[in-house]
Amino acid sequence: MPSDTRPLSAPIYQSSVFEIDSLETVDDLYEGRAEGFIYSRDSNPNVSILEKVVAQLENADDSVAFASGMAAIGITLLSMVESGNRIVAGSELYGGTNLMLRQHLSKLGVETQFVDTTDLDAVEQTLDSQPRLILVESITNPLLRLTDIESISQMAHQRGVQVVVDNTLASPLLLRPLELGADVTLHSATKNLGGHSDVTGGVAAARADITMAMRQSNRVWGSVLDPFAAWLIVRGIKTLPLRVEKACENAFAVAQFLSDHPKISAVHYPGLPDHPQHKLAVDTLGGRFGWMVTFELAGGGRSASSFVKGLDMIKLAASLGEAQTTISHPAKTSHRSLTGDEQAVLGIRNGLIRLSCGIESASDILADLESALAKS
Ligand SMILES: *Cc1c(COP(=O)(O)O)cnc(C)c1O
Repeated sequence: MPSDTRPLSAPIYQSSVFEIDSLETVDDLYEGRAEGFIYSRDSNPNVSILEKVVAQLENADDSVAFASGMAAIGITLLSMVESGNRIVAGSELYGGTNLMLRQHLSKLGVETQFVDTTDLDAVEQTLDSQPRLILVESITNPLLRLTDIESISQMAHQRGVQVVVDNTLASPLLLRPLELGADVTLHSATKNLGGHSDVTGGVAAARADITMAMRQSNRVWGSVLDPFAAWLIVRGIKTLPLRVEKACENAFAVAQFLSDHPKISAVHYPGLPDHPQHKLAVDTLGGRFGWMVTFELAGGGRSASSFVKGLDMIKLAASLGEAQTTISHPAKTSHRSLTGDEQAVLGIRNGLIRLSCGIESASDILADLESALAKS
C-alpha cells in the first residue's frame, strides 16, 4: 500500500495471525525489544485501539477488551480471586452476574455474600470479614439505585479489600469509578459504548498491574474480542458523548411525563427529587441522570401487556443503551431466573417496565408512550 497517506478510519485487521520477518524478530517481539502483533488471541491492532480509547475514557492506565460484558466480569474476577476467597456483591446485580457468582464461581470454591449496597452500614459489616473484593454496579438495573462508590472504596481499602464496579448503566461520561477510588471499572460494550445494537463486547479498565493479570487470564481462557467487533465499538464511541447527552435529556423528559400520568403508580429515575439517592446522583453524575427510566403501571401485568402491544416506534428488546429507544419487562427477561419471591424482594412486579431512551426526538418518544398508555 502507498504510504504517503493513511486511512483516517483504522482499517480492520481481520487476521488471526501476523507474519514475522525472522527468528531474530521473534526473539525481539517476545522479549519486548520490538513492538508488533503475533497472534490475535494475544493482541490485535483493532482491539488495542479500543483498549487505549477506553483507558482514556475511564482515566485508567490501561484497559482490556473481552468478547462480551459477561466475559469482562468473569475474567476480571477469575484474575483476582482464588479458591477459598470470598466476594461481597450487590444484591441487585445484573441477572447473568448473579448467576455466575451463585452457580459458577461457587463451584471453584469462591463464595459470594450479597448485600444491599445502598446501605453503607450493611456494606461495612460485610467488609469486616475481609472478602477478597466487593463487586457493585454504579447504577443498578432495573430500579436504578446508585452506589456510593467513593465511600465504599474508602471502607474497602481500609480493610485491604478491592473494589470492582460494573459501570455499564452510567457510562464513563457520567461517572468514572477509578477517580472515586475503585480498583476496576468495567462495561458491557454491547450497551452504549457500541450503542447501535450490532455488536457484543466488554471492557475492563484499571491500574496497569491489575490489567496485566486480566490480560494474561483473557489469553488463557480465550474470551478475546474479534477485530471487527472492536472496530464497531470504536466507531460507536466516537458519538458516545452526543448520544449520552441526548438520551439523558430524553430520559429526563420521559421521567417527568410519567410522574404526572394517572396510569403510572411509580417512576424510578435518579433525576427525580423523590428518588432515594437523588442527592448522590446530583453530586456524582455531572448534572445528568442516565438514559434509563423504570416505571410501574398501576394496572399491573395485564396493563403491561396491552401497553407493550400499543407501542409503535419503541420496541420490546432485551438490551439497553442503544441509539433506538427500547423497553424491557424485567420480570419476564433479565430477572426471569429468579423465583416470584426473589423478584418481590427486589420490587420487580409484573407491571414494571424498563425504558432505555435512545436519541430520537423527545416528542416522538413521548407521543408513542402516551398513545400506548391510552390503550393500556
Ligand atoms: C448487559 C449487561 C451485562 C452483560 O453484558 P453482555 O455484553 O450481554 O455479556 C453486564 N452488566 C450489565 C449491567 C449489563 O447491563
